[in-house]
Amino acid sequence: MNFSDLGLRPELVAAVTEKGYTEPTPIQLAAIPAVLSGRDVLAGAQTGTGKTAGFVLPVLQRLVAREGREPRALILTPTRELAAQVAESAQFYGKNTNLRTQVVFGGVSERPQIDKLRNGCDILVATPGRLMDLVQQGATSLGKVQVFVLDEADRMLDMGFIHAIKRIRALLPQQRQNLMFSATYSDDIRDLASKLLSNPQGIDVAPPNKTADKVEQTAYRVPKDHKRHLLAHLIKEGNWHQVLIFTRTKHGANRLAEQLGRYGIQSSAIHGNKSQGARVRALEDFKSNRIVALVATEVAARGLDIKELPFVVNYELPNVPEDYVHRIGRTARAGSTGQAISLVSPDEVTYMRDIVRLLGKDIPALPTPAFEIRDFGPAAAAADEDRPPRPQGGHSRRSQSGGQSGGQRSSGGQQRSSGGGGGGGARAPSVAPGRATGPQSATRSFKPRRSGGR
Ligand code: AMP
Repeated sequence: MNFSDLGLRPELVAAVTEKGYTEPTPIQLAAIPAVLSGRDVLAGAQTGTGKTAGFVLPVLQRLVAREGREPRALILTPTRELAAQVAESAQFYGKNTNLRTQVVFGGVSERPQIDKLRNGCDILVATPGRLMDLVQQGATSLGKVQVFVLDEADRMLDMGFIHAIKRIRALLPQQRQNLMFSATYSDDIRDLASKLLSNPQGIDVAPPNKTADKVEQTAYRVPKDHKRHLLAHLIKEGNWHQVLIFTRTKHGANRLAEQLGRYGIQSSAIHGNKSQGARVRALEDFKSNRIVALVATEVAARGLDIKELPFVVNYELPNVPEDYVHRIGRTARAGSTGQAISLVSPDEVTYMRDIVRLLGKDIPALPTPAFEIRDFGPAAAAADEDRPPRPQGGHSRRSQSGGQSGGQRSSGGQQRSSGGGGGGGARAPSVAPGRATGPQSATRSFKPRRSGGR
């Protein structure tokens, strides 16, 4: 089955072919005919499945040709990055048509977006907050919308967009086609779907454990305050590149990017407090290998179109197991294999058990390799505390390798601190493999926590 067989017109197929895609992905196989038929659709699909083309292509086809100034398809996304990427896809796939796509999102000035909307468009991709602002100013009207798409609906609810979605929905014509995409199905999602969709065709592809199968998943047990050293060691020793690292907080993302930088590993952080320009730059640097590591929070990373990522690191585990699946879904796309590595501190072991229960398979905990710790001054000492590192240098603090907490057995005594940091010098810290390699702990898998064991 190819894209023409699905009923797509030659000018759309030509654009897809130019991208190099010959075979539709499972979500595309199911979604394209469903959307073309005009039905409402509720699709369970996460990033990396090809879902964007799954709705963009048939939406382009349904609009046929340029008509008027007001958008006839409205695509809502939770994040600016996803909005930009979806719009880019729509512009590319629609390149052989005269349909026009515009995108609006918050965090940048409104003026250029208002001007673009004045010029008119057929497809409008938007984040909910900015769209409401612009509609209230009369920059566009939603009265001509025929197709309404909610992309990553679960994430939109997580981000508190439910009221904005309801307000936007109230501005749409009664008669329209609705498409809703969500990686997970909570009660809230079901509730929203029941209000928004009418007799939808349900599409479910790649349940989480299927996607995760292509990814080699491993874990290390490591005390919290050794994580950054172990990570630096793994990146350097393994010569890793394009490493996407997840932290739980924005501050944690900044701090880790800075710490890795001090180890000589070029890194950037990407999260909601960064300006749009900074986020775009970081993403471009990452895609083009100008930086080695991108440290991201869950929300900021959603929908990033980074293909076939070789390494995803859970520096901190998510407390919602589905988020783990989202995260590692960024690696091993399009048939390649990828690695997902989790650094698990003793307080995170229960999260790990919930994750393996969701996946339905164990994740091996590898023996922690010997790594050397060289901390430099109070800045490093402060690094794991929840405050920004202090800038001044000073005496080095010995690592606490002697007193490490439970989970890590293999590296005790093998980690070396650098000794005196020497009078406030700005020497870069480094990690090196430890020499004394005592008995390593045997590989021990994380096993699911029994149901009801909470
Ligand atoms: P998405 O899930 O929409 O974020 O898409 C994930 C990635 O798959 C994107 O980089 C797409 O460009 C790519 N992709 C989409 N459709 C196909 C296809 N039929 N074959 C190969 N790659 C695809």
